[in-house]
Amino acid sequence: MTNRLQDKIAIVTGGTSGIGEATAELFVDEGAMVVLTGRSQEKGQAIADRLGENAHYLCADVSREKDIADTISHTVEKFGKLDILFNNAGGPVGGTVDNISAADINYGVDLLLSSVILGIRYAVEPMKANGGGVIINNTSIAALRYRQGNFLYSALKAGVTHYTRLAGVELGPLGIRVNCISPGAIATPIFWGGSAIANTKSDEDNERKLAKLKASLAQATPLPRSGLPEDIAQAALYLASDAGSFINSHDLVVDGGRTSMFNETS
Ligand code: NAP
Repeated sequence: MTNRLQDKIAIVTGGTSGIGEATAELFVDEGAMVVLTGRSQEKGQAIADRLGENAHYLCADVSREKDIADTISHTVEKFGKLDILFNNAGGPVGGTVDNISAADINYGVDLLLSSVILGIRYAVEPMKANGGGVIINNTSIAALRYRQGNFLYSALKAGVTHYTRLAGVELGPLGIRVNCISPGAIATPIFWGGSAIANTKSDEDNERKLAKLKASLAQATPLPRSGLPEDIAQAALYLASDAGSFINSHDLVVDGGRTSMFNETS
């Protein structure tokens, strides 16, 4: 522990699994007070208990504007300020180009894009009052290359990446840095339907799936191992800490080199 986030107040959405859980843990280790959110109450509370007194779980669904606004206002009321917001929550979205419904699209937009736009919107006021802050959005290499996710997922993540760039320009003068991370293939339950599905399986079942996934993802990058949630947590720490104080409107690709295996259109 190097206390790189000492006295910082952070929100990590989707902190009940995978990348968000690893980031909440690293942020707490680095001295932050972390509010982690997600819909899985039992799991969220167990993670907060494991991480200790500097972790708090709040049940919130990022597809609901009220939950986003309440998460931020509750954090500021309880801890006095907001320094860091990691808009991380997300999951698989449905549909193919020739078979997609308005319901698929609306669900995808709410979960992956509106959640980020509204998270930023509600974070501005407290961060402005605090003299600045850091917002990190979790996007994907699916925003950059063909077939790294389904079409709707890829297009919505591209929206997140571009919105990040614009928001960083708009909010930079207020001392609010806005960046995103584009993870490559990271071994988490998102590959078998997301944490809501993983919650219905036994621990042994999930661990077996994870081990199999890690072995197969190790074939997916030039590096001889799978991407891990901790790899993205470290990138988030860099962006959130003073080490990243001149990084703004940036998309940090953390993919072990996977995007370089394909040209821009493949
Ligand atoms: P994960 O293990 O399935 O975790 C997803 C997290 O998002 C869970 O904590 C889940 O919590 C939360 N979540 C999902 N829907 C939610 C909702 N409606 N409201 C609130 N929270 C919700 O997946 P992950 O891989 O860590 O994914 C985290 C982020 O990374 C996502 O945005 C994903 O698109 C992005 N990403 C992942 C990869 C990868 O290879 N894993 C690659 C690129 C980008 P609850 O179920 O408790 O609500």
